[in-house]
Amino acid sequence: ILVGTAKGAQNGILIKGGEYLETAHKLRAIVFDKTGTLTRGKPSVTDVVATAKHTEEEVLQLAAVAEKGSEHPLGRAVLEAAEKKSIKIPEARSFKAVPGEGVVAEYDGGTLLLGNRKLMAMYDAKLQPVEANISTLEEAGKTVMVLSNGKEPLGIIGLADTLKDDAVDTVRELKRMKIEVVMLTGDNARTAKAVAGKLGVDRVVADVLPEQKEKVIRDLQKDGKVVGMVGDGINDAPALAASNIGIAIGSGTDVAVETGGIVLIGNNLRDVVTAIKLSKATVRKIKQ
Ligand code: ADP
Ligand code: MG
Repeated sequence: ILVGTAKGAQNGILIKGGEYLETAHKLRAIVFDKTGTLTRGKPSVTDVVATAKHTEEEVLQLAAVAEKGSEHPLGRAVLEAAEKKSIKIPEARSFKAVPGEGVVAEYDGGTLLLGNRKLMAMYDAKLQPVEANISTLEEAGKTVMVLSNGKEPLGIIGLADTLKDDAVDTVRELKRMKIEVVMLTGDNARTAKAVAGKLGVDRVVADVLPEQKEKVIRDLQKDGKVVGMVGDGINDAPALAASNIGIAIGSGTDVAVETGGIVLIGNNLRDVVTAIKLSKATVRKIKQ
């Protein structure tokens, strides 16, 4: 076990305890978080669509107003896009992030909403004028945010994130090892399916709120499977803890890195495969 752990460290894999090395070879399902784990987690704005009475510039500006204080990668991408176009971004009167849904800002006597369908539904905003545009972008694998002033939609913003270089290979290799690969995301089903198609994952669970990620793991475990979870975000921590082996991306948030039993300090997804192979080799040696 000591040798196995040392070998892991040499390969950019931090294994926090012998039990993880002894369990990894038993994994039958691995759940991957999408954003920041399978994808780079650095989305950028690719499309801005305005409804009849508005301009694209206006849509981007008001979206940036709503995201001004945002820490979320999607929010930062909007700010970057607005800054690139030298658009002035005034301060909103107040700002509130709704985890897994979007942001709400009080501005210019109105309420700006920017986020996904769940957020729009909560405020009863009309989606129908932009529905067709949303579907088109989602089918292309893009994440779509709707911007609305109260119930009135102003436009939509499409963002794309790129897959990590080794994501496709990693998924293929795991499937070859007869391990079920599941992708978990707070993104909507259509976008998630488009991304999953490129990756060849077996199963997609989309539209999950941060607090539901853990339940997905527990449900898989109910089938008697040893389940691994790979993630990077604060919102992945409960799922990492619930899984039989939590695997954190080294460059992820501190909470994820602390919670994971295995940390990929080299930030290579392929090291998930390496860790399992290492576990197999170690257990074989022990039995010998
Ligand atoms: P993931 O699970 O993919 O890492 P999150 O749970 O952080 O994603 O967010 C899920 C969804 O909630 C996003 O795809 C987006 O539609 C919406 N969302 C979250 N935060 C924001 C934000 N700051 N601005 C706009 N939309 C947001
Ligand atoms: Mg993530």
